[in-house]
Amino acid sequence: MSQADLQARYGAVMMNAFGAPKRVFERGEGVHLWDADGRRYTDLLSGLAVNGLGHAHPGVTAAITGQLGRLGHVSNFYASEPQIRLAERLAHLTGDPTARVFFTNSGTEANEAAFKLTRLTGRTRIVAMEGSFHGRTMGALALTANEKYRAPFEPLPGDVTFIPYGDVDALRETVDDTVAAVIVEAVQGENGVVPAPDGYLAAVRRVTEQHGALMWVDEVQTGLGRCGDYLAHLPSTVEPAGVENRADLITLAKGLGNGFPIGACIATGKAGDLLQPGQHGTTFGGNPVAAAAGNAVLDALEAGVLENARSTGQWLADAVRELNHPLVDHVRGHGMLLGVVLTGEVAARVADAALDAGFIINAPRPDVLRLAPPLIATPEDLQPFVDALPGLLSSTQVEPASSASSLETPEASHRA
Ligand SMILES: *Cc1c(COP(=O)(O)O)cnc(C)c1O
Repeated sequence: MSQADLQARYGAVMMNAFGAPKRVFERGEGVHLWDADGRRYTDLLSGLAVNGLGHAHPGVTAAITGQLGRLGHVSNFYASEPQIRLAERLAHLTGDPTARVFFTNSGTEANEAAFKLTRLTGRTRIVAMEGSFHGRTMGALALTANEKYRAPFEPLPGDVTFIPYGDVDALRETVDDTVAAVIVEAVQGENGVVPAPDGYLAAVRRVTEQHGALMWVDEVQTGLGRCGDYLAHLPSTVEPAGVENRADLITLAKGLGNGFPIGACIATGKAGDLLQPGQHGTTFGGNPVAAAAGNAVLDALEAGVLENARSTGQWLADAVRELNHPLVDHVRGHGMLLGVVLTGEVAARVADAALDAGFIINAPRPDVLRLAPPLIATPEDLQPFVDALPGLLSSTQVEPASSASSLETPEASHRA
């Protein structure tokens, strides 16, 4: 069936939550995807920072199918070895032997779990950041700054104060002994790949500690190799030396299952003991198949993918900088999570032109392109995109701003 036919069927039956899909994909392999008309694309978005190992990764496929053939689901009345093993490995990433894990099926649910946990401290106030994104369920939405996402759904769970991201003075002025937790991203991905300024996370650690508040780092997008480390807020984790910024609550999801739905909330220290039987739950969370996917992802990261994310990410950032294109103001981010900041608000048009040219990228803001290739991508895989980028950028300067795609709002292309 042709892509046009599939798009028509989609439009007739799917709720219009995401706008019309620009492509319908049929299969993927490594860094490539093929649409229903048989056209090939290089994926520089990884399903929104999810498919770190690329598409149809043999290790993940074998782990999932093997586990499903043995034991697919038992509910959380019972346990399975893959789940226990994944929890041990995730806990180990914090470098804290007291770390405890709660599994979920998504990023927003990992944040819901952490949010409920903060209520068990006896305090209710949460300090969140302007520009933040933490998910679409009511609790996570209450912590998400974007007014357009929030307004139609108010009232949301209350007692949330937003402060400017990266502003240490605002942090010091706002956080007091009534605050249960400060939630922060190491890099604000949805806000256009904005990294925390140097020293900011350390300041969050100091200030929360001073006031007995929890430090909560949402690593749903940044974690598991995306920024070149297992945890972006703890560069070179596993090394006990680097742990002074370690958060009390860490939430993970996107990259954890390479597309198989799984999330996790990790709590360290006293925070790990807050949740008692009956206070929270999930039917699917941490099921053996999802856990097998997570274990396969960690196997691959340990076997060299992490180093590749670091080196190819650096290569890609440098390669885009070295284009010296007048429309590129600067490149920011860490590892394989990069924002190309443009001098004009043409990012949606560049992303559309890229798709037409066979490259998948997105525009989280009107003036920012997000590049989040699979962590397995090599410079050879990405060179064709770098070669094409000057033409894609320049094409937005020649055409008058009259095409339908140029009218698109950033929200319409935002599918998180
Ligand atoms: C994507 C994202 C979420 C939400 O994850 P879902 O799996 O879409 O619910 C939460 N926090 C951050 C930082 C994200 O990037």
